[in-house]
Amino acid sequence: MRYADLAAAYERLEATSKRLEMRALLAELIRPLRPPDLPRVLYLSQGLLRPEYEGVELGVADSLARRAVAQAAGVEPAEVARRTKLSGDLGSTTQELLAARRPLEATTPLTVERVYTELSRVAALKGEGSQEQKVQAITDLLVPASPQEGKYLVRFVLGTLRVGVREMTILDALATAFADGTKEARVRIEAAFNLSSDLGLVASALVDGGVAALGAISLEVGRPVRPMLAEREPSLAEVLERMGGSAALEYKYDGLRVQAHVPKDGPVRLFSRRLEEISAQFPELVAELPKAVRAKPAIVEGECVPIDPDTDEIQPFQAVSRRRGRKHDLERAQTEIPVCLFLFDVLLAGGTPTYGDDFPARRARLTEAVRATDRVRLANQRVVASVEEATTFLEEAVAGGAEGVMAKSLGAGSSYRAGARGYWWIKYKRDYTVGLTDSIDGVVVGGFHGRGRRAGRFGAFLVAVYDPGKDRFESFCKVGSGFDDAALAEMPHRLAPFEAPERPVSVVSGIEPDRWFRPGLVLEVRGAELTLSPIHRAAEGSVRAGAGLALRFPRFTGRYRDDKDPTDATTSDELLEMYRGQVRQAAPDADGDDGRPDPT
Ligand code: AMP
Repeated sequence: MRYADLAAAYERLEATSKRLEMRALLAELIRPLRPPDLPRVLYLSQGLLRPEYEGVELGVADSLARRAVAQAAGVEPAEVARRTKLSGDLGSTTQELLAARRPLEATTPLTVERVYTELSRVAALKGEGSQEQKVQAITDLLVPASPQEGKYLVRFVLGTLRVGVREMTILDALATAFADGTKEARVRIEAAFNLSSDLGLVASALVDGGVAALGAISLEVGRPVRPMLAEREPSLAEVLERMGGSAALEYKYDGLRVQAHVPKDGPVRLFSRRLEEISAQFPELVAELPKAVRAKPAIVEGECVPIDPDTDEIQPFQAVSRRRGRKHDLERAQTEIPVCLFLFDVLLAGGTPTYGDDFPARRARLTEAVRATDRVRLANQRVVASVEEATTFLEEAVAGGAEGVMAKSLGAGSSYRAGARGYWWIKYKRDYTVGLTDSIDGVVVGGFHGRGRRAGRFGAFLVAVYDPGKDRFESFCKVGSGFDDAALAEMPHRLAPFEAPERPVSVVSGIEPDRWFRPGLVLEVRGAELTLSPIHRAAEGSVRAGAGLALRFPRFTGRYRDDKDPTDATTSDELLEMYRGQVRQAAPDADGDDGRPDPT
């Protein structure tokens, strides 16, 4: 195919914003094409050289592109810069300059093959001298280009090709050009794309063997699957109703979705929800997954969250996002902000696709295929059949650092729906509260053995508030954050006078620490917010029967309140007041994207 024909088609596509018209134009453009031109044209039209997940980039800065344009047009770079300032688009400037250039002697017209091959070579150029080579290669393409070709070539190079062909429009066009255009054909084409994330591959299979050939496109380790997405409901009652009365509830971890591809041999590859490869960000997961996943090759999915290595508690999500792009500091990040991947699905195990199985079978397969380690575990899950059971699980989830629950359908048809949002998964997030500003003076009533760097020492402490009416100490958090080494070393001495062989009668908690202490040591803690909890007992029953108050993401401020007796600590009533005083906000979650920029 001549590149001029593609450029002319771009011009027409750019002139319309109607999806139907675009589909027709695109179908007309691709109908005569066959591989290898067909996939090339599809990639190029999306501004890509390879499927997006491969992350192939040209790596040509604006200044380099301007130099190439100047050389090809025979003008000074300053002239290109001046004109571009006026036009705001180097593509249009190129068109202008090439039109004004002295006519060339006859040159061979550009083909899609040449453009694609040359640009692929440019993308692969690395290291010393590569910038010059890139400029030269682009100049060589621009010299024989017509003004219109030049415009689109340059826009491609800059990543500003604005012809607006989106994946969904291409799928429409494929159905029109190479199948009978029916809804069924469109569905099958999209299904193949959802499994392979590669439009070029789908188009080539379709044109070679028709819709029937798409069935042969299956999972491949190293090629990400488009993720299944969740719907939402405003209450747990509605969640259960949707799911026919019972569902598997899982912790909804607030982190980064990770699709892990674990080959039989060779390196693990991790992909984000947007199918970008993020393996380099999490070397510890890359190292641990082959040990944790026994049924190789496998494709598993989970949520990656930061974990306090000393207390094993889930940390706020921000800790992971700070890792982004920190290639140099990665080693430090690994020890300071280690992550844990909580697996919640399996698409391929032991080389056999499982995505078509219903969810209960997939969960069973996942349990069987994975041997939990410190870094790789299964998502917490419980099958519930009533709103009460669901509420209790939600509270446990929130107290455990999750942002809510994910309900999963157990019914027939609960297979993994790649790329689809539906009611087979329903997310339910509790209302958000705006940060707790007050600190709390809590009484240490228990200690937990440390792990990791804190092995052989205490790692965290059970802390309580005081209820003067009942004269008892009610636990509201387990805190390990905020203790530096010195503070940690000091704690056994400070606690020694209060050691108790068993739970003191004045202490109530749903948690059993490794060591109990009589109420004596008072210290100051802060946290993100107060929530309801089935395991802590502060102000139990005041908000809802069976639930106490708990502090989320608690942290020792470093301040001991030696000036306070345990009975002078914050009281249960004060905690309740703080809970009620928190400003409640609707969850920032209106677009299915959790309301925050995609962390990857
Ligand atoms: P959404 O992407 O808006 O459909 O919301 C679902 C997101 O929640 C997923 O993309 C995951 O990143 C995340 N998530 C956290 N825990 C779970 C879980 N147990 N199961 C499925 N998704 C989860």
